[in-house]
Amino acid sequence: MPLTKTYLDYAATTPVDPRVVEAMLPYFNQTFGNPSSVHAFGQSAEAARERARETIAQALNCQPKEIIFTSCGSESDNLALRGAALARREKTSANWILTTHLEHHAVSHTAAQLEKYYGFQVEWLKTDRYGIIHPETVENAICKNTALVSLMWANNEIGSLNSIAEIGAICRTQGVPFHSDAVQGAAHLPTDVQSLNVDLLSIGAHKFYGPKGIGALYLRQGTPLIPAQTGGSQEFGYRAGTENIPYMVGMAEAFRLAQTEHAARTTHLQPLRDHLIGTILEEIPEARLTGHPTERLPNHASFAFKDADANTLLMMLDLEGFACSSGSACKTGDPRPSEVLTALGMSADWALGGLRVTLGKDTTPEEINAFLAVLPGLVERVRKINQR
Ligand SMILES: *Cc1c(COP(=O)(O)O)cnc(C)c1O
Repeated sequence: MPLTKTYLDYAATTPVDPRVVEAMLPYFNQTFGNPSSVHAFGQSAEAARERARETIAQALNCQPKEIIFTSCGSESDNLALRGAALARREKTSANWILTTHLEHHAVSHTAAQLEKYYGFQVEWLKTDRYGIIHPETVENAICKNTALVSLMWANNEIGSLNSIAEIGAICRTQGVPFHSDAVQGAAHLPTDVQSLNVDLLSIGAHKFYGPKGIGALYLRQGTPLIPAQTGGSQEFGYRAGTENIPYMVGMAEAFRLAQTEHAARTTHLQPLRDHLIGTILEEIPEARLTGHPTERLPNHASFAFKDADANTLLMMLDLEGFACSSGSACKTGDPRPSEVLTALGMSADWALGGLRVTLGKDTTPEEINAFLAVLPGLVERVRKINQR
């Protein structure tokens, strides 16, 4: 087994940046108070929490009181969908949720649950072959019975980017709240909630070199929301539970770095990504890029290889020292064809052969070249095994 492993699965998660670890450390056992306590220990913890909130608000171009800390990107999505849909229905009796089958399960399974158990109706909007939702599709579907529109910014499995600002403008004209899952998008793109025209936006720290287990939901002032987790009045009453101060501090520092360094990171990543995509499409027969060729995340390359079982390929890559994914991290080990690739109209012989290669800010050209040197041979071997 090779001694060094090359990690090419940054859409699944990222290592915590040493600068972030440094920022977090004092909050485990020095500034450890409960922010709800009256005494000085509580006050300094509360101050740290508010500084973290201000940092994130500044990076997103909103007010601190519009940031709700949660335990992860999935929780942010859950709170947004359930909370905004229920609140909107209470006010207007609107009953429809508009979303797509390409959303992360944190959105699509929540929408499905709202339909099954809460009496909402979900309209699964059609995307194009790149997985992009056209603003006209939203314009044609939206009406006064729409309780919520939820559409992701960047797709985790195929990297495609939606025109969130345009879709948001349509929702605003109709007075319908608009949520966007930006867990991937905000990790790589300048994220201004004003120009994006969103009412709710989800982020998660571990996709941008922050710790796992912490996320946030942006909630535009005046957007009604019913809390999912009830109890104490933490997070303006939207999310009960004693706060995880070190993780809030870490998330704020990681997000500040992601937003201030995004241009430099993109300048480094995009040519590497394009070299990777170009070489693979040239050297591997019956290979397709999945997702849009240019409207995609700067670090994201994803493919489908006909008749090449993804799990076998991932295991072989792992033995060669390369960590990749077949699509969403949540589906590893599941032999069914990718739901996303199937929703894009791919037949099973293609949709079983998904490969996602996602680069990180410290990925080197040498690592990419080493990867490109082994991949074509491995795909050929997997196809021979499949034939037997
Ligand atoms: C990772 C991810 C999530 C879930 O975030 P967690 O913090 O892992 O719960 C949601 N949506 C997208 C697009 C993601 O990539």
